[in-house]
Amino acid sequence: MRVRPLFPTFVYDAPLQTRGARALNARLLRECLQLRHDDRAGVAWSKQRYPGGYTSYGSVTRMQRFSPTFAALERKLERHVRSFARRLDFDLTSRTLAMTDCWVNIMPRLMAHPGHLHLLSTISGTYYVRVPRGSPGIKFEDPRLERMMAAPPPLAHARPENRRWHVQDAIAGHVVLFESWLRHEVAANAAASERISISFNYNWF
Ligand code: FE
Repeated sequence: MRVRPLFPTFVYDAPLQTRGARALNARLLRECLQLRHDDRAGVAWSKQRYPGGYTSYGSVTRMQRFSPTFAALERKLERHVRSFARRLDFDLTSRTLAMTDCWVNIMPRLMAHPGHLHLLSTISGTYYVRVPRGSPGIKFEDPRLERMMAAPPPLAHARPENRRWHVQDAIAGHVVLFESWLRHEVAANAAASERISISFNYNWF
């Protein structure tokens, strides 16, 4: 008898770099906070659509073009995105994956980020800048959920691949990648201080 796992969903997690990680992370942290300070349009946008928190999602979405620090992040993300695409067996013959958007998210205490997908992108991900103890990871949802009409719930100790949700720990200095169609959310930040991350989208051209 053989049971094969078919149509799996892959989530990638790795430290961005092994050397010089602290210095780059400190620069990114400073620039995230500075951006919130300077980005009037983003603060106004966040007030409407991300109340309590700050995101540059509605104002400055190409940080990799404006800031050499974010451009350095983009360069360091390249090998991660390439190896994830290899693992997914993407046929990218004469095409390439390129970063289209890159924005900042600052979640204060009790801020949550409801479930969503990244429409019209190929690979999305997040780099974690500051993750205070007790702040949430990123929760992924089984993409087949809406088809499961008579499927019993999995056991409490079910294998991770058989569960309906997976919470990937957010670790400062780490990058998490996933395919953009995969729905995800971030639960309310239970920590007293701000959780800061940089999200991005890649598309193939
Ligand atoms: Fe997202």
